[in-house]
Amino acid sequence: MSARTAGPRDAAAVILLDRPSDPLVYWVRRHARMAFQGNFHAFPGGQREPSDADIRVVNGASAELDAACVAAVRELFEETGVLVARGAEGLDSSQRSELRCRLNDGTSTFSDVLDENGLTVDGALLAAAGRWVTPPFSPRRFDTYFFTAWLPEGQQVEQLNAELDHGEWLRPAEAIGMWEESRVLVAPPILHAMRTLAGGFEDLEARFSSIPEARGGLVRRIEFRPGILLFPVRTPTKPPATHTNCYVVGDREVVIIDPASPYDDERDALDAFVDELIGVEGRRVKEIIASHLHPDHIGGIAHLAGRIGVPVAAHRLTAEALEGKLKVDRWIQDGERMTLAGNPEIDLRAVHTPGHARGHLCFFEERHRALLTADLIVGLGSVVIDPPEGNMLDYLASLAKVRALEPSVIFGAHGPAVGDPIAKIDEYVSLRLEREQQIVAAIAAGDRTPEAIVARVYTDVPEKLHALAARSVIAHLEKLRDEGRLPDGMDVPA
Ligand SMILES: [Zn+2]
Repeated sequence: MSARTAGPRDAAAVILLDRPSDPLVYWVRRHARMAFQGNFHAFPGGQREPSDADIRVVNGASAELDAACVAAVRELFEETGVLVARGAEGLDSSQRSELRCRLNDGTSTFSDVLDENGLTVDGALLAAAGRWVTPPFSPRRFDTYFFTAWLPEGQQVEQLNAELDHGEWLRPAEAIGMWEESRVLVAPPILHAMRTLAGGFEDLEARFSSIPEARGGLVRRIEFRPGILLFPVRTPTKPPATHTNCYVVGDREVVIIDPASPYDDERDALDAFVDELIGVEGRRVKEIIASHLHPDHIGGIAHLAGRIGVPVAAHRLTAEALEGKLKVDRWIQDGERMTLAGNPEIDLRAVHTPGHARGHLCFFEERHRALLTADLIVGLGSVVIDPPEGNMLDYLASLAKVRALEPSVIFGAHGPAVGDPIAKIDEYVSLRLEREQQIVAAIAAGDRTPEAIVARVYTDVPEKLHALAARSVIAHLEKLRDEGRLPDGMDVPA
């Protein structure tokens, strides 16, 4: 993969407004199966197309902003049927609908649609509302220009396209209320936009871009759900992940889970964030928690614990494995409930979930059923099961254990939140069982070593990862052995 394709892709989105006397804003929910932010609420929008830059914009600002403007208008039209263009007032709804069909099925380009109907993209119909770049913890990243636009008179939102499963008009304050009640998942730009709009319509453009993150700066603090702050830190983790998510859970009293980075610059950033939580926001850190023993989870714990003087907690098996490396002050038991004071008060239940590591813990926020999964389930890449610390039978049992909690959202240690938890867990289980079937077939075909099985089965995995794959095969073989499903005389290497 080249650096270009790995970097953020240009995108644009429209914050559609209606009824200037008491403004309503339109937002949509992305379909659960969408690879990027499935089940998240967002504004209509999407990726820029190269041809967007070729379309003339009147009252434009710069070539860059104009291309974003065209993408915003085009995406809004494709997704909602709303056409914000000069001249659109001369079309009736059936004409717009026909043009939208031709655009969506590819029979017309957006340029054709505009030219053939005397339409013009007019920069005066849209106002800049900030530029946000998805932070590098996400597998898909976008560099998105946001615009506000008023719903043109005589138009309405039509049937949404298949990427979206719901849309609604509401007051900005109502959107914030839904977020506060944990009824929706939203990314930082959407929360910021709703808060800005809720603060009134004066001086919008300046207020939208009042924070560095809204001017293309690095987004560090993410709050998909209230009371669960995510602060990704760069760590020496397994590609494609480059970051580990450090979580701060709680309102007034908080726990910090996996302050993971061994790098000075990242520790400095996390220190500054924690200082802000304590000094500016008045929160109190109760303890620091290690979800499990891996270096990409514990790399910053001793540093932070020493710096702010709070105890470290982990499962007993993690504490024992880390003896001499990390001082653990308290053991966390399976099922233990931590009550974190605040408004709201947050109950966090520890769930012992061995499989990736013996002492692995997940944490379940009971009121809104948010599940912090650490390395049991991740939002990016795959989970390594490497014996003897890893155990496939335990892993599958742990997946079943957290599935039974019926989580509404999953916050993993790598990558973005998972908005469709049950489907994700089921996908995890079926991928492992499919792999097991392939391994059983390889054994039936005569393979007797992990290396031979890898060569036959892991044809979809690059060769440099075959050593890792062999560890995973050993985990499968141990499971088959423990279930009495290996042929007589076949040994499982350590
Ligand atoms: Zn791990």
